[in-house]
Amino acid sequence: MDPAPYCPAPDEDPLRALTPATDDGPRAPCTHCTAPTEYPADAPGAPLCPVCAWQQAQRGACSG
Ligand SMILES: [Zn+2]
Repeated sequence: MDPAPYCPAPDEDPLRALTPATDDGPRAPCTHCTAPTEYPADAPGAPLCPVCAWQQAQRGACSG
């Protein structure tokens, strides 16, 4: 006799979605200086490297 079934485990480990990509896959180039970012190449949007992201944040803060 089978025990009461639990909810089936999802195919994807939810923790994977919360963990930054740490593999050696291709990185998306920064849209400003083409330096490799910390985002995977298939990340949506326009990724910026930490330097450009910081500079853009500074510009935004000063252009008000
Ligand atoms: Zn950059």
